[in-house]
Amino acid sequence: FLPEEMSSSALLSELKHRLGVLIDAAEPKLHGLSRDIWTCPELAYQETQAHGTLVDFFSQEPGWTVDPHFKLDTAFRAVWGPELGPGPVVNVGFLCEFDALPGLGHACGHNLIAEVGAAAALGLKAVLEELPDRSSLPVRVTVLGTPAEEDGGGKIDMLREGAFEGLDVVFMAHPSKEDALYLPCVAEHDVTIRYYGRASHASAYPWEGVNALDAAVLCYNSLSVLRQQLKPDWRVHGIIKNGGVKPNIIPDYTELEFYLRTPSRAELPVLKEKAERCFRSAAEATGCTVEVEFSKNRFDNMLRFWTLEQLYEQNGTALGMEFTTDEEVLKESGSTDFGNVTFAVPGIHPYFYIGANALVHTQEYTSAAGDARAQFYALRTAKALSMTALDLLMNPQLLQKIKEEFTEEKHKEEDKETRLSTQRT
Ligand SMILES: [Zn+2]
Ligand SMILES: [Zn+2]
Repeated sequence: FLPEEMSSSALLSELKHRLGVLIDAAEPKLHGLSRDIWTCPELAYQETQAHGTLVDFFSQEPGWTVDPHFKLDTAFRAVWGPELGPGPVVNVGFLCEFDALPGLGHACGHNLIAEVGAAAALGLKAVLEELPDRSSLPVRVTVLGTPAEEDGGGKIDMLREGAFEGLDVVFMAHPSKEDALYLPCVAEHDVTIRYYGRASHASAYPWEGVNALDAAVLCYNSLSVLRQQLKPDWRVHGIIKNGGVKPNIIPDYTELEFYLRTPSRAELPVLKEKAERCFRSAAEATGCTVEVEFSKNRFDNMLRFWTLEQLYEQNGTALGMEFTTDEEVLKESGSTDFGNVTFAVPGIHPYFYIGANALVHTQEYTSAAGDARAQFYALRTAKALSMTALDLLMNPQLLQKIKEEFTEEKHKEEDKETRLSTQRT
């Protein structure tokens, strides 16, 4: 369908148009994919059905090489295009998340993330196959199925296993209550604190006991007091998971879980040191022993790449997206394991409206993420991601610029890390 002779900008806009047509044509199977995942919500690292659904999906598509159980039991990889060889091949990655929340199902809409990733990859591949001279554009499209975003951080495990090596740029998009190019994604480390005391009858001879609940309360209160001395954008929040079993037994065991967050990963050790003093002093005050266990994976803040954001904004706007400029919304922060990815490969993680005003992590959002109304918005997002990938493929200097921004952003973070760690020692 494409004429042999075309200026490169005319070719690019024609390809973008075709991309939209091809993605729309695949709507029934893409919708089916997200509906299947939505119908069977699975928790982090246990997404066996979603893994199977996505692996089957790509196995049935012509031209894709699929690796099930790639690096993790419920992760996968699907690849289209030439092997990475000595010649320059641009390796474009799309990420699919698919885990759900306990008790709420797909209240974060990760079923739509999977659909958007699959749609964008399928669309890009289909349009590249229509190019008159494919050898002029050596491209590899890689889809990574990344489990356990809500708990644990599957992408962090996969990074450790080298799953992102060889990728030049990665794309994903997250459902939200509005279209946003970026929302603050801060660094986070989870910690579990366990106090061990000695049980005793709480009325007959309480003095024989060592009260682990007292330690938990002191710990909680010390952290509350500490907040005054923390930077306004640092966050410490937690729960008492085990506070004893019966009022007439002095609790001999209690357990708390806290999330510690700072805007950059460089600041996290400073906060951890302060928090750890609260954990340990509560044990000292009560005579308990304490165990402090930080989770295996630390979530990093998300780096921003301006060129990618600008391109996505242009493509999204052309498709009718209205990106929020609401200052309050742009301050809302969370954490994602995509942050860690941005320290390894440049990428973008915009947010998209799904046709409902519900807030994520609520029952209402679960309904919205499974509603047919979300389809238009999900596919529009896939188109914008894919169009942005096309921009980079057709203009190698843009990819080069993004790589420079990546080096620069990483250096800035490393400098901050060095500065803060010298201050602490
Ligand atoms: Zn979530
Ligand atoms: Zn999420």
